[in-house]
Amino acid sequence: MRVRVGIISDIHGNVEALDAVMMELRDVDAIYCLGDVVGYGPNPNECCDIIRERKIPTVLGNHDAGAIGSLSLEWFNPPARIAAQWTADRLTARNRFFLQNLPLIRKTEHLCMVHGSLNDPERFGYIKSIWDARESFAEMGSDTLCFLGHTHIAEYFRQGSRLLQVDHLALPEGGRVAKNSDSFYIVNCGSVGQPRDGNPMAGFGIYDTDSSTIDLLRVEYPFRVTQSKMRDLGLPTSLQHRLEIGQ
Ligand code: ZN
Repeated sequence: MRVRVGIISDIHGNVEALDAVMMELRDVDAIYCLGDVVGYGPNPNECCDIIRERKIPTVLGNHDAGAIGSLSLEWFNPPARIAAQWTADRLTARNRFFLQNLPLIRKTEHLCMVHGSLNDPERFGYIKSIWDARESFAEMGSDTLCFLGHTHIAEYFRQGSRLLQVDHLALPEGGRVAKNSDSFYIVNCGSVGQPRDGNPMAGFGIYDTDSSTIDLLRVEYPFRVTQSKMRDLGLPTSLQHRLEIGQ
């Protein structure tokens, strides 16, 4: 049976971007979310409501953890800290409870999911190089596919059956990852609500378990609406600007 799984991550309170991506994913069989539902953006509760009400399996991101007080905001840069505190002050009790109960790692029969890295999930380390990726590959066990987010960059790492050989390819304009059965993969489908790979379109993925392909996809969304909400709410101007440049 063909199973198509939508992969979303780093929504960051951007409900315009989330709505656009959910429309693209209307026909998939399941959706998984890799964390950072909130933080930066103007609609943290609306984004949590969508993920919670649709019962989308989700892992905890560092901004989710910051907004519920389980990660110190000292780790955040100044604009991120301002937005995290703003988010913490506005989360509904129901959404706070939802975030408090998210696990750091999830596994299904096909794959594993984490926000930042598998080797140190609670510290939310970044995979920025093949050397970082190698440390997560070492934790994958029998899983051959790991989806993660956190860097907001659409890309993948592949480790061949011979240990230590790792390839890396960034796909900011989208593209297809065709999985070989003898390799291990770490795939980042990019960020829904705050892309940082130079492409301001919302990023997401579709994993087809039958053909063993992962499509990294982008969709336009009305980012000017998000920016004007942020302006009206007094969220930092640097966070507004980055939405239009994708950085
Ligand atoms: Zn993030």
